[in-house]
Amino acid sequence: MTALRLYSAKRWIYTGLWLICTLAGSAHALEGAAGSNAGGVAAFNPALDNQLARLQRIAYDKPALALQILQKLRLDPAHAAHSQQLLLAEGRMQAAAGNDTAVEAIASNLSQYPNSQAQVSLLRALHADQGGRSLQAAEHAEKALAGLEPACRLGQGGANRMPSMPKDCDFRSAWAALRVLVRKQQNEGVLSLAEASARQALALAEAGKDNYLRALSMGHLAMLSHYLGQVDETNRWLAQGQKTAEGDVLAMAHMKSFESALASRSGRPADQLRALEEGLALATQADAPRLMAQMQIGLSDVYVQLQQPQKAATAAELALPQLHALGDQRLERAARHNLALALIQARQFERARRELTLLAEMRQDWSDHAVLIEELREEGEAWAAAGQAKEALANFHAERSLSAELVALNREASLKQLKVKYDSERKQADLDLLIRDKTLVDKQLANRHLAQQVGLAVAALLALSIGLAAVMVKRVREANRLLKANEALLRAQSERDPLTDLANRRHFLAVMAQQAPAEFNGALLMIDIDHFKHVNDQHGHGIGDVVICEVARRLSHAVRAEDLVVRWGGEEFLVFAPGVSLADLSHLAERILRGVGGQPINTDSGPLRVTVSIGFAHFPLPPSKLALQWEQAVNWADMALYTAKSRGRNRAMGIATVDARDSDALMQIEADFDAACSSERVSLLQVLGPPA
Ligand code: GH3
Ligand code: MG
Ligand code: MG
Repeated sequence: MTALRLYSAKRWIYTGLWLICTLAGSAHALEGAAGSNAGGVAAFNPALDNQLARLQRIAYDKPALALQILQKLRLDPAHAAHSQQLLLAEGRMQAAAGNDTAVEAIASNLSQYPNSQAQVSLLRALHADQGGRSLQAAEHAEKALAGLEPACRLGQGGANRMPSMPKDCDFRSAWAALRVLVRKQQNEGVLSLAEASARQALALAEAGKDNYLRALSMGHLAMLSHYLGQVDETNRWLAQGQKTAEGDVLAMAHMKSFESALASRSGRPADQLRALEEGLALATQADAPRLMAQMQIGLSDVYVQLQQPQKAATAAELALPQLHALGDQRLERAARHNLALALIQARQFERARRELTLLAEMRQDWSDHAVLIEELREEGEAWAAAGQAKEALANFHAERSLSAELVALNREASLKQLKVKYDSERKQADLDLLIRDKTLVDKQLANRHLAQQVGLAVAALLALSIGLAAVMVKRVREANRLLKANEALLRAQSERDPLTDLANRRHFLAVMAQQAPAEFNGALLMIDIDHFKHVNDQHGHGIGDVVICEVARRLSHAVRAEDLVVRWGGEEFLVFAPGVSLADLSHLAERILRGVGGQPINTDSGPLRVTVSIGFAHFPLPPSKLALQWEQAVNWADMALYTAKSRGRNRAMGIATVDARDSDALMQIEADFDAACSSERVSLLQVLGPPA
């Protein structure tokens, strides 16, 4: 069984999972119509929200029961003022029950309320999401967030450390909307954006003190870290999520789902099986039929991998009636897909074809291309393994044409991500410059003031003595000379890093603007100190600074005179080697690894051994030599650096060849670099650093 099918199966579990979350989360939206704020966002009742959150958890597995309880709440005169909040909760429950007409009716009903735009959007987002229309879902989720954000003060990045929950923040709705966004960003392959959104969601759950949502967010972050190749982070998030879930059987069951998904992704079917069995036991204990069905889907997937088609078919068939009753299209499709694979494996071709015909119908309005492509691929592989060439070929063609569509979508998303990334980095650089420019202006003003005073003195003294006046004029000239020197110095300094005296990012940008306005040529090495945080944590920032300076010095020593060493960020450096040949580039990387890591650095805390990881590449990329802009070139070096980190650090990973015929293919690889490396569309070379 290929990694891809593991991936998709896992993705299924994962996506199902967060469906739970979105549903669980969003119930809590709020506001009583009577309590509308003048500020534009309806007032939010946190106590009722907590109550509805509990109900929404029930609704995920037993929507009919939850709706019944909700009816009682509505009849309670104490809640008369909160009809809007209750209506949204009902909408979410109807969405969980798959009642399309009821959801639509509630959405239009809800839109009659003042300031209900965000809630209507959220409801539509969750509904589209359950139906697998991920693009539409994300559009609605963005609108919902725009409405909810002001009350929650979800500033750019600032939400990571949101100290306390603003009173009017409907954090569960914002959480649910973010979750929809994360999924879309993840499917588009813009993982760092997805991670940022997931962190925002976690910050909301933290501030709202909702352990259930916190645990789920940590699970999502574990998955994203895994996609990003961050092994330590993945394990850390998973462990933290499990700890947070302790004592809450349902949350613990969800964490098992994440655990099994991660095991599946890493090709550990035995661990996957164990996690699913434990998850199934927990879900049974929590009396959660939808979650149980989800675990069965996972089990059917493992059994397909283990070539046990009978068991696989049984597990999928156990899941189906429940999912059908809940109108859960997404999970039902997953179950049917696994069932079809099991039937092909068992050589029950007629039954398999019937299942696939059913699936084809269900996939009609399915906009999640990435999932569909993987399913088609898996089905094609299963047909091929069973020796059914005709079906295998048909699947291959369908998958290819869908892939082409996906590439176009992903290309756009990755460009957007690159732009966001460089924009924010530029902003920081510009800020540094503004501060320096201000110093420059202050000096200019001081000098001008001095020159004026001197001028006045000259005028006054002129009458007294020509000789004295000459002295004063000389002083004025001296002051002006100093002023000019000051300016030149400040200009030069604005392109240098004050700590290391290396060129800074602004200088690199200036060089690029001059030398590579359109197409980038030459080699780049992105270098990052390994585990630098430990140095700061164990020895303090002062020693950290000493280490950065010494690494900078060693880097400058290791490169050739014509190479440019830039302090790119905190403990990150970029080397631009314009003239180096492809063959010599590995040697340069090796010199740097040895130059930095070969000898410990002497500090006041004693000798410290510091190593670096490097990502490097020669541009244009061999063998097709497609033109790239410098921002993209930096991104390629960055991706290789990532790989060097995830493969254990103290090494350099270089891009040897890239199998891409045009820039679309290149963008596709950039969108999922890890996958491209595993499928050998990118071949890497590795240079190890000095042994410890
Ligand atoms: P990894 O091996 O994955 O690169 O781990 P790391 O700990 O090196 O990387 P991470 O990016 O997590 O941490 C970098 C740290 O560097 C965080 C930041 O506080 C510290 N840092 C950034 N700039 C400076 C600086 O100018 N001086 C000091 N002392 N520390 C800095
Ligand atoms: Mg770093
Ligand atoms: Mg580092």
